[in-house]
Amino acid sequence: MATPLVVNIIELLRRPGTIKDIDASIAVADFDFAVEQIIDVVIPVTVRLESLSNGVAVTGRATAQWQGVCRRCLGHINSELIVEFAEMYQVVLQDPDAFAIEQDQVSLLPMVRENILLAVPLAPTCREDCPGLCGQCGADLSEGSCSCETTAPDPRWAVLDTLRENLTKDS
Ligand SMILES: [Zn+2]
Ligand SMILES: [Zn+2]
Repeated sequence: MATPLVVNIIELLRRPGTIKDIDASIAVADFDFAVEQIIDVVIPVTVRLESLSNGVAVTGRATAQWQGVCRRCLGHINSELIVEFAEMYQVVLQDPDAFAIEQDQVSLLPMVRENILLAVPLAPTCREDCPGLCGQCGADLSEGSCSCETTAPDPRWAVLDTLRENLTKDS
């Protein structure tokens, strides 16, 4: 399968310091993500390969449209993942995190795939201060407060509140 993310690097390895840039649009199906969150049809990937004395440094970014469910209000989230990566490829693996150079080729797809999957939020929220749902009536509090909140506060707490106010005044 010919893919722009399998790169022959014979020339790069010959001359350390050589740079090769790749701009590609990769079909989501090629990544075989096995998660439902990534909804793009194609994922643009830009990569820069730079040969060093001990391998090839790969930096770049991928952008993917992503969807999920807010863990607080259960609302739908549609967002963009911008995934930046910096990895090493080595013929002789010295760095434990490095990827292997096999048959003078680097295979970038598994590395980009791994980085995209790591960037998918595990417990997403639609926004940082999402108030979520009311624990009593289930109303979406981002659309306004519900009637549960108008119940009078327990008078015992009012005493504590007054105490706390006095303390903050003194300090
Ligand atoms: Zn939310
Ligand atoms: Zn409520």
